[in-house]
Amino acid sequence: MKKTKIIATVGPVTESEEQLIALYKAGVNIVRFNFSHANYEVASAIMTRIRKLNSEGKTNLSTLLDTKGPEIRTGDLKTKVQFEKDDIVKIYIDNAKFQDDGKSLFCDYPFLMEDISIGQIIRIDSGLFDVEVVEKKTDHVEVVAKNSCLIGSRRHVNLPGVKLRLPGITGQDKQDVLFSIEQGYDFIAMSFVQNRSNIEELRSLLALHNASHIKIISKVENQEGIENIDEIITASDGVMVARGDLGIEVAIEKLPVYQLDIVQKSMIQGKFVIVATHLLETMIENPFPTRAEVSDIFNCVRQKADCTMLSGETTIGKYPIQSVEMMTAVIKEAETNTHYSHEDFSDEGLCNRDIEKKHLIKNALFMSESLNVRAVLIFTKSGRLARLAAAFRPNRDVYAFTMKEGSVRYMNALFGIRPVLLSNWSENLGSNLDNAIAFLKVEKILSTGDRIIAVNDIQREGKEIPVVEIITIE
Ligand code: PEP
Repeated sequence: MKKTKIIATVGPVTESEEQLIALYKAGVNIVRFNFSHANYEVASAIMTRIRKLNSEGKTNLSTLLDTKGPEIRTGDLKTKVQFEKDDIVKIYIDNAKFQDDGKSLFCDYPFLMEDISIGQIIRIDSGLFDVEVVEKKTDHVEVVAKNSCLIGSRRHVNLPGVKLRLPGITGQDKQDVLFSIEQGYDFIAMSFVQNRSNIEELRSLLALHNASHIKIISKVENQEGIENIDEIITASDGVMVARGDLGIEVAIEKLPVYQLDIVQKSMIQGKFVIVATHLLETMIENPFPTRAEVSDIFNCVRQKADCTMLSGETTIGKYPIQSVEMMTAVIKEAETNTHYSHEDFSDEGLCNRDIEKKHLIKNALFMSESLNVRAVLIFTKSGRLARLAAAFRPNRDVYAFTMKEGSVRYMNALFGIRPVLLSNWSENLGSNLDNAIAFLKVEKILSTGDRIIAVNDIQREGKEIPVVEIITIE
């Protein structure tokens, strides 16, 4: 089994029950719903299917709602307009003043005139049409086209390097968050996170609706997110290197540098980290990836990301299941070629209880190596102990037993953790250990003579006492 987890975006080619089972069997741990496109009716039908499959034991899939975020777009055009290199184009922020004359565009960012400077680049249609600001007039910005492009209605606009004045949670995002609570999603990925206060706003909204159990993933996708990366990681449960937008917002050659930096910084803070977008882009059309894509996945594993993510490959691609199978195969090969060295990480940001847990699991993992045990078993209610174990990038298989289904779903995002719902959980932790060992024997993971390490918080006189046990299976 692989240790690196896979997130697959669900779409028309994967939303059926059969395809969801096939995704799971191919190696998917988390299903992502992209709310830049989703519709409530379709999303809730898929959620019902996933819940049913999970409850029947046919899958163990977690669910992630990815918000649309505060996007900037051009306006409606009667017909597509062909712009040529060196054309002068007028960009208006007031739709009443904008004229659909084939030489102008509307932009829905109200502060464009104030926030943009002469010489800056505006990237339209996800980087397909770049224009440079040459003049600021009273009611529009004049730009020169850097290349030719056919532009349709409501295209994406990126303003690289501009400190944007955008709301953290838009009206649409708020509705989607409420939908995610009602539908029982496990994770919310927040788009275009710029700073800690964006995350705090979402946390307060979740708390207000008794949904603090939903984990927040911050999508880092612009310069502002890069500059505030430390505080963003601290405030989040997990982080996503959203390379699609990030690759438009920053100089493309910086992208691998930022990816490495975000992955390393997330590990140092013990937070899970996802690398997203274009990992197998060519498999949308082709049954086989490029050599560069295979190397990209390999590098994600070598960098020790918790999860890799598929988007178009599994939403509209011709080879969705093959894409996951390919990703799984490359991950497995990369993992066998990667040395996981249990690098320590900072105690900063951890409460005293978690600092104790962290050092307990750290030493248990070190011991698991030196004693060459078959597996490490941990017992966790919330998944916190598993999160700390994952941050050490364990070499050994770590089975995390819990009594909460929500914790199983959370742990699906964590590197190297195999979560198991222990149906007969008891406050007598000795019997949990017996049940866990019995389960692993039935699953043929353990057999007589195997040595394991178990990490437990036993209860003594109402207090939790951390314990590490070395056990030989009878
Ligand atoms: C990305 O930009 O890489 C990303 C994952 O976000 P989205 O798919 O919403 O653009």
